[in-house]
Amino acid sequence: MAKLYFRYGAMGSSKTANAIMVQYNYQERGQNALMLKPCLDNRDGERSVGSRSGLSAPCRYVEELDEIDLSLYDCVIVDEAQFLKKAQVQRLVDIVDGLGIPVICYGLRADFMGNLFEGSHWLMAWADTIEEIKTVCWCGRKAIMNARVMGGKVVRSGEQIVLGGNESYVALCRRHWSRGELAPLEIRRISAGKEAYMPLLLDADPNRALVEAYLPEGDMYVLLVDGAAAAEAVVTRREDGACELKNLATAPEMRGRGYAGRLIRHLFKLYQLQYPRMFVGTSPANVGFYRRFGFEPDYVEKGFFTKNYDPPIVEDGETLTDMIYLSRAL
Ligand SMILES: [Zn+2]
Repeated sequence: MAKLYFRYGAMGSSKTANAIMVQYNYQERGQNALMLKPCLDNRDGERSVGSRSGLSAPCRYVEELDEIDLSLYDCVIVDEAQFLKKAQVQRLVDIVDGLGIPVICYGLRADFMGNLFEGSHWLMAWADTIEEIKTVCWCGRKAIMNARVMGGKVVRSGEQIVLGGNESYVALCRRHWSRGELAPLEIRRISAGKEAYMPLLLDADPNRALVEAYLPEGDMYVLLVDGAAAAEAVVTRREDGACELKNLATAPEMRGRGYAGRLIRHLFKLYQLQYPRMFVGTSPANVGFYRRFGFEPDYVEKGFFTKNYDPPIVEDGETLTDMIYLSRAL
């Protein structure tokens, strides 16, 4: 018997990655699984579902169900199912009961205020099988709430759905969600929304075109203190097989507390498994800082600053010309 499944989990519990893996498993068995999502969620800007882990897959919209020949499919998968309307959940029930095709829905249970979404409400009411996909709060307890964070603070009122907004969401346990307590200090990898940190990125490297060139491919990490970005770093892969610390900045009000150093030491630990060496290009004033972390002068790129920065950068009364590269074994 075909069933309607609702697999729910908080933000960052790998729901989309799970959905993509289920589709892949069907394909491995020589079967077709249709991937759908509600049209409302167009954050990807196209007909695809994408997970934070980088996996993505093409999809159709739930609103297009009437145009799709379902007899070609052995399974229907719905991502972002919290955004479904009641009538759309009913339509999925009809696919299960009328056509005998299993439908597997992935979505959030509740919004940032703790209220059920419309889609989740009807899936909770009607699904044959309800399963939880677990993730953890920074404290180690199971995270069941989705906090909306603005400017480092947990907010509890506003529109239920804000697309394209600057809000970011963090999964928290109920206790920390109610108290509005974010991790005292944590380092997170940022895969979507790197541009939100542009002011910090430009603080370390004022050439926006250069930053925009390496940012999409670069690995970005942010050190958060009580939810506020205190420092960020971007690491890229070099053609010589080493990695390069391309950008490192501390928020002005957070300087002098060792956050950048903490982030650098964390990067050493992360990247030593993949790369033999880390490079960093900098100006004379910052050489001493990097030497404290074991970097040694390696080579000089003549005229780098003269060529790339207009107006020129003046540091300690001197106009910068050459970029000094330092490197360190990992
Ligand atoms: Zn917690």
